[in-house]
Amino acid sequence: MKELSKIIQNLPQSGIRKLQDAAREIPDAIRLETGEPNFKTPDYICEAAAQAMKDGFTKYTAVPGIKTLRDVIAEDFGKRLGIGINANQIVVTGGGTMALEIVLGCIGNPGDEILVPDPSWPVYTMQVLSNGLTAVPYVMPADNGFEPKRENIEPLITDKTKAIMVNTPSNPTGAVFSEETVKMILELAVKYDLYVISDEMYDFLTYEGKHYSLKAMDPDGRVILISGASKKYAMTGWRIRYAIASEKITSLMNQLMVATIGNATAVAQKAVEAAITGPQDFVEFSIKDYKARRDAAVKIFEEEQVGFYYPHGAFYIMVDVACCHMDSEEFALKLLAEEHVAVAPGGTFGESSKQMIRISYGTEMDALCEGIRRMCRFIKKYSK
Ligand code: PLP
Repeated sequence: MKELSKIIQNLPQSGIRKLQDAAREIPDAIRLETGEPNFKTPDYICEAAAQAMKDGFTKYTAVPGIKTLRDVIAEDFGKRLGIGINANQIVVTGGGTMALEIVLGCIGNPGDEILVPDPSWPVYTMQVLSNGLTAVPYVMPADNGFEPKRENIEPLITDKTKAIMVNTPSNPTGAVFSEETVKMILELAVKYDLYVISDEMYDFLTYEGKHYSLKAMDPDGRVILISGASKKYAMTGWRIRYAIASEKITSLMNQLMVATIGNATAVAQKAVEAAITGPQDFVEFSIKDYKARRDAAVKIFEEEQVGFYYPHGAFYIMVDVACCHMDSEEFALKLLAEEHVAVAPGGTFGESSKQMIRISYGTEMDALCEGIRRMCRFIKKYSK
């Protein structure tokens, strides 16, 4: 038979998925590799979804999402970002990957280059490549708190550069970009006429400092904000994400939605609408809980004198494992086999984090602390 897609055959594998698969084989493994809240979706959200199903809300919806949900998102983001947003600037789609797929599909032409942070969530690079575009990594230097400097980005820009992807607060580093960094990126975007794809999934999770939204400072409609309910409302399985962009971009996205997903799941849209309009106590509680876990994790690393990078947002910590002289995937697989602790290998996020591993503190406190202690023991054992 003729050859299947070369592009898909050559896509890089996600090191996180590899560790997840390996961890499933070890039933008592402590799971620190996945970026997923340990909480259940709050009851008021599930009840709204159940009611919607009973009411027969089980049909196709408008392609960019139900108007009531888009109105609610527009109002929520408009208020928080201090800018005017209307429902036509919103496209509600499946999970994060689908939102990126649609955005990249609408802005890229074959041969275009997309600047991708290094380190970053591995799906960015996969999505760029699967759209037939070229991923150009820009380094987020660890010694600058994983915030990019102008010199990490500007020399990489060519005539083919179409967009820059940005993620603050960051997965995997927990970095929260300063206002200065955000302004620098937007300045470059204007100077070289680039679109900005800003993934602000963790905007609610900054423990120190402030989250600066690139969309809030969008000079002329070039910023596409991607956000969603997965982490904020513990709704990873509901698969809803949204993009906020100029109407010129969202009308093209609607076109691609027709050709791909059609519309996001009807009942999940109702659930997200309930999440945003309902009581926000769960979000407030979870922020405090994540911060307590971050503080407990940091304390153990400090006590054990194991090198790590202090995170100010999201729920991830990068740990320095250079002293073990192992490839990060080898480290992660060996740690899993010996100590029954699963972590994400740094190499999957980019070249610059090959000597690191990422832990997620989406896991509950006791397991998190036990997992970190075992990991510190392992690092000391193999440290040369
Ligand atoms: N964007 C970032 C930065 C993430 O860390 C993740 C998940 O880990 C996603 C997007 C995916 O979110 P979703 O559950 O909406 O697919």
